[in-house]
Amino acid sequence: MSRTIGATAAAEDVMDPDELVFHPWVAQGPRQVPTFVGGAGSHLVDADGRRYLDFSSQLVFANLGHQHPRIVEAVKAQADRLCTLAPSHASDIRGEAARLIVEVAPEGLGHVLFTTSGTEAVEHAVRMARLCNGRPKVLAAYRSYHGSTTTSIHLTGDPRRWASDTGAAGVVHFFGPFPYRSAFGSRTPEEECERALAHLEQVIVLEGPSTISALVLESVTGSSGVIVPPPGYLRGVRDLCTRHGIVYIADEVLVGFGRTGAWFALDHDDVAPDLLTFAKGVNSGYVPLGGVLVGESIYRAFCERPYPAGLTYSGHPLACAAAVGAIRAMREEDTIAAAARLGDDVLGPGLAALAAAHPSVGDVRGIGALWTVELVRDRETREPIVPAGATGEANAPMAAFAEACRDRDLLTLILGNRVHVAPPLNVSDTDAATGLAALDGALAAVDAFLS
Ligand code: PLP
Repeated sequence: MSRTIGATAAAEDVMDPDELVFHPWVAQGPRQVPTFVGGAGSHLVDADGRRYLDFSSQLVFANLGHQHPRIVEAVKAQADRLCTLAPSHASDIRGEAARLIVEVAPEGLGHVLFTTSGTEAVEHAVRMARLCNGRPKVLAAYRSYHGSTTTSIHLTGDPRRWASDTGAAGVVHFFGPFPYRSAFGSRTPEEECERALAHLEQVIVLEGPSTISALVLESVTGSSGVIVPPPGYLRGVRDLCTRHGIVYIADEVLVGFGRTGAWFALDHDDVAPDLLTFAKGVNSGYVPLGGVLVGESIYRAFCERPYPAGLTYSGHPLACAAAVGAIRAMREEDTIAAAARLGDDVLGPGLAALAAAHPSVGDVRGIGALWTVELVRDRETREPIVPAGATGEANAPMAAFAEACRDRDLLTLILGNRVHVAPPLNVSDTDAATGLAALDGALAAVDAFLS
């Protein structure tokens, strides 16, 4: 018997409308999850009126939290004026969004190709590079995420790629610096930086520089582990790319627009790439928007010759209005400084205290409003508390942790053996303290698995 949606069906036959949605990344089927109906600031509210603290900014995109009045007003005002416009027409709001983005961007990135997602931004950046230099291969780091379309999932350097990997995208992976799990046996960040750069140079030389079009790199590795590169690494990457004629694409989809306590994460190293991809924080995800910031030499390559690609909704007026509202609000409220202070004074020390108190915490690392807590079976061996891709019984410690967070009305982003801590950049100190206290309680559930 088919099941019915709506009020006329018998109670046991009513299908939860959530079952009609095909959910990304997970097995389909009924889910035990709250249905959210509202929110404000760092909180979301479910259909039963229960209030949750959003300690993940969703998928690390709601940088200004929920229902920020400046963004909501900007979208409403644009909706009243002009809801939609093809990319071929000039739009005042699209131009204003581009102007504000270029103003805060690293030097030399003077133009914006708008997309509707981070994945598309990465696809277009790689395409631009290949069109410019005609080389086939692209370098990307292990422990990275760049999106889920064909090129971007092949660039991705973590297990999320495996199911889609056809091995045919011309991607070559290399190891980036990761002091906690060094691929180079380094003992200090300086050593890690030096060895990681030497390794990258070897990869370039042995692959053949004339075959490598671009290098795509998250300026701080986001969902694959929150790995902050040691000082000097990004500058070294920039130099290697320049020396070998490789287009340097900085993927700032997750870390751009304030997440690390700077407008862009490579501002910490004062580095400018040839192309920079962004999305998420540009407008806190209120309306889907991404883009590629384009440097002068690549821009010039397409001044006479048409750029042979596009998107129907490139630079959608409502999304651009949200970006204008968000960037103006970030400037007025000094959100970047707030994110830096949050990391230095609140999340950094708070998470360090949790590490000291819980034997299951192997490492705490991060910057600004982007942190991770890595959970291990043994602090000496650093064996992850659950293996990569664990499900069922093998994932019991992380499942217990997730449940303990839910019980404490805390929304977190759990990936493998890590919990990512990424609240809105403007979270209050009181809410941050509440979130840390909830994590404290939830970590006890993981400690219980250590024999
Ligand atoms: N690049 C990075 C660094 C990301 O973190 C993500 C998404 O999380 C993407 C690209 C893909 O962006 P989207 O999911 O908007 O397509």
